[in-house]
Amino acid sequence: MTSLCERDCIGTGMWYNTRMKKRFSRIQIVRVLVQAMVLGIMTFAGFNTKHISDWLFPTVLLVGVFFCGWVCPLGAAQDWVAALGRWLRLPRLRVPAGLQRYMQLLRYVFYALLLMEISISLLKGPYHFSRLVHGELLTAASGVIVLFLLLGLFMDRPFCNYFCTGGARQGLFSVLRIFGIRRDTERCGGCGRCSARCPMNIDVAATDFVRHPNCIGCMTCLSTCPKKCISYGLFRSARKSESGR
Ligand code: SF4
Ligand code: SF4
Ligand code: SF4
Repeated sequence: MTSLCERDCIGTGMWYNTRMKKRFSRIQIVRVLVQAMVLGIMTFAGFNTKHISDWLFPTVLLVGVFFCGWVCPLGAAQDWVAALGRWLRLPRLRVPAGLQRYMQLLRYVFYALLLMEISISLLKGPYHFSRLVHGELLTAASGVIVLFLLLGLFMDRPFCNYFCTGGARQGLFSVLRIFGIRRDTERCGGCGRCSARCPMNIDVAATDFVRHPNCIGCMTCLSTCPKKCISYGLFRSARKSESGR
């Protein structure tokens, strides 16, 4: 289903002026370059995603889940197929807000099941546990990655939104972060473009500070706001009217 707002905001790209286009391009081009660079380093230097995610994990408490928006190759692949889908003008699917409220919990349910499985495995013995930590689950999941990438032609980040336990783990800790996306409610025109364009289906237009655990720090909302009233910074340094909520 393509929402009216999304068709209007994103379909032709006519809504933003040249200045906005430059702003959008600058941040998002840098993001694509970083994603491509990481993919190259991982391919040629043999780093693995889990290691990088573990190294960056402490930063989640400070700046949120930048790993997902800027580093993770699977996240990048979904962004790129989504861009291809838009370029091909394929219909965009978006889970209705009422259903999204429940669907977004799915990955946390999977994460809880994974933790339970790990606990049971620990009780069963080191052999079972070592099979788990050596990525047996990941190997099984990789078989369906192609399906998710095909789905990604029509909707934003389906795997990240509903299935990824790694994203869920980081997201849970990210609610403690002190830096994040802020919306200036006084300058906001209420157009809803930020919400329509968020790949993680967060209703940015309805919040002052994005503390949502699904936020991946991709800056798409910031890039697409025609009024430039979305910024990234210290939560407590935002306007008094914002911190009042
Ligand atoms: S949610 Fe999972 S697949 Fe998506 S970017 Fe984050 S770690 Fe990668
Ligand atoms: S709220 Fe903004 S930064 Fe966070 S995921 Fe959505 S578009 Fe990206
Ligand atoms: S923050 Fe910007 S994009 Fe979002 S509703 Fe307000 S004016 Fe529109």
